[in-house]
Amino acid sequence: MSNRAQEIRAFLLAAVYPLEQDFLRKNFREMLPELQQRREQVKTLGLWTPHLPEQYGGLGLSLAEFAQLSEEMGRTPLGHFVFNCQAPDIGNTEILLAHGTEEQKQTYLLPLIRGEIRSCFSMTEPEFPGSNPVWMKTAAVKDGDDYVINGHKWFTSSAEGAAFAIVMAVTNPDAKSPHQRASQIIVPTNTPGFKLVRNISVMGHVGDDYATHAEIVYENCRVPRKNLLGQEGSGFAMAQERLGPGRIHHCMRWIGICERAFEMMCSYAVKRRLAPNKPLAASDIIQSWIAESRAEINAARLMVLDTAHKIDHEGAHAARDEISLIKFFVANILQKVLDRAIQVHGGLGVTDDTLLAFWYRQERAARIYDGPDEIHKLTVAKRLLRKFGFDGDAQRI
Ligand SMILES: Cc1cc2nc3c(=O)[nH]c(=O)nc-3n(C[C@H](O)[C@H](O)[C@H](O)COP(=O)(O)OP(=O)(O)OC[C@H]3O[C@@H](n4cnc5c(N)ncnc54)[C@H](O)[C@@H]3O)c2cc1C
Repeated sequence: MSNRAQEIRAFLLAAVYPLEQDFLRKNFREMLPELQQRREQVKTLGLWTPHLPEQYGGLGLSLAEFAQLSEEMGRTPLGHFVFNCQAPDIGNTEILLAHGTEEQKQTYLLPLIRGEIRSCFSMTEPEFPGSNPVWMKTAAVKDGDDYVINGHKWFTSSAEGAAFAIVMAVTNPDAKSPHQRASQIIVPTNTPGFKLVRNISVMGHVGDDYATHAEIVYENCRVPRKNLLGQEGSGFAMAQERLGPGRIHHCMRWIGICERAFEMMCSYAVKRRLAPNKPLAASDIIQSWIAESRAEINAARLMVLDTAHKIDHEGAHAARDEISLIKFFVANILQKVLDRAIQVHGGLGVTDDTLLAFWYRQERAARIYDGPDEIHKLTVAKRLLRKFGFDGDAQRI
């Protein structure tokens, strides 16, 4: 483990793990004062926004180097937030860094980096399949110096309390390629016509503030044309660019969760007695789950780090098969390891006395967001089959 990873682990163990029991019982907003305090501590340690280039206050790491820190942060549900590299802000920061104008960087990127504001990413629509992201209805029509946006989105994570949304909207409906019809536009959430309809209840939980998924209506929502990110019609390409590193971030966070669940599973199996001299760990069924989990987590980590390395050296496009492979592979390992850990804990596993039930509920969505399993499998399989003469269409996701 690198020195920085060790430093992060030690800090989280001492200052953040102790907050977890409260986190499982309180609203996110109630936790904010303590979390803000931890965020200030992270700044003094020089570990704030570690994913960023040094000129923006980060550690100037490669994706593969940051991935290893991300695993450490993923071991607690509060880790990424405390280091200010939580989704969706991390992805929006990457977009603004790569495509923002100087004015956009001053207005949106720098406050985001300083942790003064939060943001959200608004692409998926209830009436259209998120798994075919080039097919959407939300439109941004030019009117003088403005865009006027109308549309309906949902699953805009962390919209409540966010200062701005990056909205995917069709600006060039007549473009020949469906991949060149949409653009990304910055919409401050206090713009008239930005209507947060509700926070969607997910697996029995509505959440609050950062921990939400919102349904939003954009009704004659007018923003200046200078809020366009990058070129008109490049929204899809920019989203693809964002999703490559984004999937590394998710996968390494999931591996952090797997490691913590694995440790909980092993220590409980040793501690829990089925009879005076018979620990649960003596069962060969449990031993087999432990061996399988260890092999799967190790394999997952190697695959993700290899993919991160390829993105670092050859770019996200060259690594698109690997990105699809890790997205569904690691999401499924996560479900398996969490499920086994819960089973080992028996009734305790489904209580909110441990993190396992929270993660099980929260991370079921891992197999859906950022491309459902099926789409990643189909896409990668079609591309692989092409090498053997298959002429089917490979969908771009
Ligand atoms: C917790 C959570 C957070 C999210 N956060 C955000 C966010 O911040 N911003 C945002 O814009 N979106 C967000 N999303 C939306 C997410 O990206 C979409 O849910 C996802 O892309 C799938 O789209 P859909 O829900 O419309 O499913 P659909 O596209 O309708 O697909 C339904 C199901 O059909 C299956 N399927 C689809 N295509 C095929 C195929 N070709 N062959 C076989 N099966 C197929 C898949 O199993 C899929 O799950 C979030 C979603 C969740 C659950």
